[in-house]
Amino acid sequence: MARVYNFNAGPAVLPQEVLQEAQRELLDFKGSGMSILESSHRGKEYDAVHAEAVANYRQLLGCSDDYAVLFVAGGASMQFAMVPMNLLGAGQSADYINSGAWAGKAIKEAAHIGKVNVAADCGKEIPARVPAPAELKLTPGAAYVHLTSNETISGAQWKTFPKTEAPLVADMSSDILSRPFDINQFGLVYAGAQKNLGPSGIALVAIRKDLAERAAANVPTIMRYKTFIEENSLYNTPPSFSIYIMMLVSRWILKQGLANLHRQNAAKAGLIYALLDAGGFYKGTARTEYRSDMNITFRLPSEALEETFVKEASKQGLKGLKGHRSVGGIRASIYNACPVEGVQALVTFMKEFEKKNG
Ligand code: PMP
Repeated sequence: MARVYNFNAGPAVLPQEVLQEAQRELLDFKGSGMSILESSHRGKEYDAVHAEAVANYRQLLGCSDDYAVLFVAGGASMQFAMVPMNLLGAGQSADYINSGAWAGKAIKEAAHIGKVNVAADCGKEIPARVPAPAELKLTPGAAYVHLTSNETISGAQWKTFPKTEAPLVADMSSDILSRPFDINQFGLVYAGAQKNLGPSGIALVAIRKDLAERAAANVPTIMRYKTFIEENSLYNTPPSFSIYIMMLVSRWILKQGLANLHRQNAAKAGLIYALLDAGGFYKGTARTEYRSDMNITFRLPSEALEETFVKEASKQGLKGLKGHRSVGGIRASIYNACPVEGVQALVTFMKEFEKKNG
């Protein structure tokens, strides 16, 4: 069996050890005679998986007792809705920072629920970037401030986070646990799991518990963070297999160490950025100070060459390099589980492609 190098933006590459372990345990989970897929979410086998997932992510995120870690179905898009449903009270407004397509989607959803103030907007700029702190026009008394830590489509990433008076809420879907950060700077962070954490269709949420008290009485039970906190994400039948895979990934991240992963991620991105910085054939599409270590975006001299690039790369086992359909170009998503050998193979391919076509 040949595994390719997978540069998809999400669902994305998972650690091979995790897939192998899941495969080993698939038919008979720890001598139970059944798969974890078939086990009761109230039984002792799943209970242990769930407890370890919660404990590991609490540890990785550095959560004190003031925070709860939740597993919520529906992915990050569900969080675009749940955040304002729970935190944006009647008569209040929330500050949203527009840094690109995903921040834009979060803004659109919040506007269904309440008043949104766009505190800064560089969402359509090319080269892509995130706003500098001085650009933020924050509203005194805002319910919260929302940002997108890494714009998966444009490849712009916050390198440090702004200090805000209102609770800071972050969509960390495409860079969570790719680098250390201080959870205490945030009221809430959420991340669709399908990049650095596991399968799609589920989000990891870390929330300062007092914020969950804000939800109005008419928010449905299943949409309340308070329900998830009180029931330890087991109010209803959870996506148990997804949480199991997330648990295995959390073990893997603990084993690697967050600081090591951060170093490796920067080194991997650096290999590709060095080529983009050499100038000429490949042009990066995010501003140097803000460019992402997770999603590397660039253009070639023509769309025809970009198409050939994607096709030839694919033939060599380098998959998923086509840029998002809304912007075109090339995007290499190199999350935690993308091996350095994959990035080296991509760089070699890029050099050869330039020699042939440059
Ligand atoms: N936010 C960001 C930054 C994303 O990259 C994505 C998905 N690519 C989403 C939100 C939406 O996630 P989901 O598809 O899990 O709803």
